Amino acid sequence: MELSQHNILSDPQAITFDDTATAFSYKSDQELRKTYWVFAAINHPAISRIGTNLVKFALNIKLPVRHLIKKTIFRQFVGGETIADCEPTIQLLARYHIKTILDYSVEGEKTEKGFEQTTLETLATLERAKGSELFPFAVFKVTGIADAKLLEKIQAGHTLTTEEESAFQRVKDRVERLCQAASDTDTRILIDGEESWIQEVIDDLAEAMMEKFNKGKAVVYNTYQMYRKDMLANLKKAFQHAAMKQYQLGAKLVRGAYMEKERERAQEKGYPDPIQPNKKATDEDYNRALVFCLNNKQRIALVSGSHNEYSNYYLTVLMQKYNVAPQDPSIYFSQLYGMSDHISFNLAKAGYNVAKYVPYGPLEAVMPYLFRRAEENTSVAGQSSREFTLIKKELKRRRHSKADTLRNKTNP
Ligand SMILES: Cc1cc2nc3c(=O)[nH]c(=O)nc-3n(C[C@H](O)[C@H](O)[C@H](O)COP(=O)(O)OP(=O)(O)OC[C@H]3O[C@@H](n4cnc5c(N)ncnc54)[C@H](O)[C@@H]3O)c2cc1C
Repeated sequence: MELSQHNILSDPQAITFDDTATAFSYKSDQELRKTYWVFAAINHPAISRIGTNLVKFALNIKLPVRHLIKKTIFRQFVGGETIADCEPTIQLLARYHIKTILDYSVEGEKTEKGFEQTTLETLATLERAKGSELFPFAVFKVTGIADAKLLEKIQAGHTLTTEEESAFQRVKDRVERLCQAASDTDTRILIDGEESWIQEVIDDLAEAMMEKFNKGKAVVYNTYQMYRKDMLANLKKAFQHAAMKQYQLGAKLVRGAYMEKERERAQEKGYPDPIQPNKKATDEDYNRALVFCLNNKQRIALVSGSHNEYSNYYLTVLMQKYNVAPQDPSIYFSQLYGMSDHISFNLAKAGYNVAKYVPYGPLEAVMPYLFRRAEENTSVAGQSSREFTLIKKELKRRRHSKADTLRNKTNP
């Protein structure tokens, strides 16, 4: 079943994401103005580029810029440096019925000590989630607890040294500790999707964990990146495996974050580009994957991780079509903290399950995450980014609404 955009928008029950009053209701005028200045800066390609380079340089030579970063871009996209720092954000989101996925966003760990530290930190997020309805999922990246080079070597089919064999055994143990803890704390755990040259190893680990922990319900979720040409088929294969082995498939759908890297590597190494030929093909497969998940809802629990308005609408329409209640715990909408509030807050207001990734970690370590958010929100071809446009719209709406109130008071 494929629905056209026109059909969806003319559905009287369709949800609307135009309501910026709801989207930014959690921000005071002063906070919204601060957000405006953050997005105004990153919207500007030159300022964003120069700013990024300056910040990298300043942090490298230890200039005192931490305070400035924390008050601006860090505050917009990150919950804090520790789980405790994230509490006000968690509670604020909860007030608007939005749940939290605590995401320890430290990247580029390369040592065993670092992998163990990331494992312990993720276990701490599960401990925080225990007994609370505010945290439906924990999340981790396999490259946060394993050497990416080792994963690449395994996927390429190279023989491992004894030391590498035991390093990989430790990776498997960490993955299992995390999934076991999710099961023990009655939480669910998402395994993020990564680059295609290590994804098969991640898929194997995820599949083994799903087989072990997803017997009655989905506890472990793997990620399916629909920008890959082969991913819809992979999703279907994963479903068949789950059906054969009698477990629930936990599926987080995303479009995929590593497009340029994937294409560059394919060209450099001379193998076919694994990415869809264009955005439309990615969009179509994403929406087809949503249909596939809803069609097989008895065995698939879904997290739709997307800021795409149409895909979010489409999922609400599919839920109506398949008679799935908005609060059905096997379907979640998910966005990143500090982005697409018009989607998250309007969905949550309409009663759908929404959970936002709330990244946290030491400031220096989350900078790569912040640079990516800045790049994503820079204007393209002179057009303001969507977030910036929405913030401007809401500021204007508030100005007009205040002017109206004042007029009504003076001209009763
Ligand atoms: C909650 C959440 C969790 C996420 N987890 C992961 C994860 O585990 N792994 C991961 O890789 N990413 C993850 N992402 C990021 C995600 O993959 C996308 O990069 C991002 O969300 C943008 O896609 P979109 O659906 O929001 O919207 P859109 O803005 O509609 O789509 C942009 C995406 O479309 C695709 N695209 C753009 N141009 C082209 C083109 N020319 N040809 C083909 N495809 C194109 C790319 O994937 C691009 O990122 C996550 C995102 C969210 C919100």
